[in-house]
Amino acid sequence: MRRIYLDNNATTPVLPQVWDAMRPWFGEQFGNASSIHQPGQNARAAVEDARQQVAALLGCHASEIVFTSGGTEADNLAVAGLVRAGDHVITSSIEHHAVLLACKHLEECGCEVTFVPVDGRSLLDPDDVRRALRPNTKLISVMMANNETGVLQPVEEIGKIAAEAGVCFHTDAVQGAGKVPIDVQRIGCHALSISGHKIHAPQGVGALYVRKGTKIQPLFYGGRHERSRRAGTENVPGIVGLGKAAQIAKEAFERSDDKKMAAMRDRLQQAILAQVDEAGVNGDGASRVPNTTNIYFDHIDSEALVISLDLKGLAVSGGAACSSGATEPSHVLVAMGLRGDQARASIRFSLGKQTVAEDIDATLALVPETVARLRDLSPLYKKQAVST
Ligand code: PLP
Repeated sequence: MRRIYLDNNATTPVLPQVWDAMRPWFGEQFGNASSIHQPGQNARAAVEDARQQVAALLGCHASEIVFTSGGTEADNLAVAGLVRAGDHVITSSIEHHAVLLACKHLEECGCEVTFVPVDGRSLLDPDDVRRALRPNTKLISVMMANNETGVLQPVEEIGKIAAEAGVCFHTDAVQGAGKVPIDVQRIGCHALSISGHKIHAPQGVGALYVRKGTKIQPLFYGGRHERSRRAGTENVPGIVGLGKAAQIAKEAFERSDDKKMAAMRDRLQQAILAQVDEAGVNGDGASRVPNTTNIYFDHIDSEALVISLDLKGLAVSGGAACSSGATEPSHVLVAMGLRGDQARASIRFSLGKQTVAEDIDATLALVPETVARLRDLSPLYKKQAVST
């Protein structure tokens, strides 16, 4: 059976070139980047090269990159590290749980948090952010691209609002990095999170950009790694992999690979909508990252569809993978105004660098037929068909 993987917003496969760059650091090259001997200095040089590569992807200085264990830690470091008890934070209702629950924790620690709503496309209105500002607002944290819909938020406008108000701005760019070009100067952010495993580097490594001069309280106490912003011996192979993936991502923009991916995604989306009735795109009409489409199929239970497609060799997702196992509808789709049953009828297709046209063809051969079969089995759907 041909297996097709269209769940790249959950995680991406490590690219062969990334693995080749990492491999020596698991074996013959094993130094601790803090050691002064040769093996240690070799590791240090590899970490610093990777820092340059990540900085080049984000348009910042290498010293502004803090390596972390992933996107969750980068988000937590930004959110918890930039505020204190008594401060006010503005965020959105559709953030990843890494930001959302970090903000909820801040509330328990004496901070005030405003969760700005989004419209039916999952877009936040920058004016709502402006209106939410208070004298004690210290931080605005709004994601660049949503993991479920792929919708891009107006981060540059929010950056301007933050600058005018003299407030820190963090953006979770875990789902934006490698998909759209990023320039932290244009965004005007003080902190920006990325994660290795969303850009074809391994799981368990990420980075936080922290603008020069921005004071950030560390999450961990220990050695003076990462300029005292993140204690703990560096994950050298992971960092080398992240650096290589960042370099590959940057080069891909120069070849306009993002446009080719958008064309593949659009073909998939259009063909599904042409062949399946009572279906539509969540986030339609907003600008989105090129790899994602989130489609609702009325009268379908997304869990049943995900399992049926998986049995036929297609991996997709019916909500955020990070909260899989939970039966509640996605908080993102609910925040957009979808009813619970509509949110539960939604499927996310997300492409990766390994996706080829044949994967799209094979997906199109499976999805309409599987939706039709599940609807045929649904008593609710049959009842509706009879009454109309
Ligand atoms: N932020 C967003 C938008 C994400 O999609 C994810 C993961 O799905 C994260 C943060 C967490 O990243 P990580 O899995 O590297 O901890």
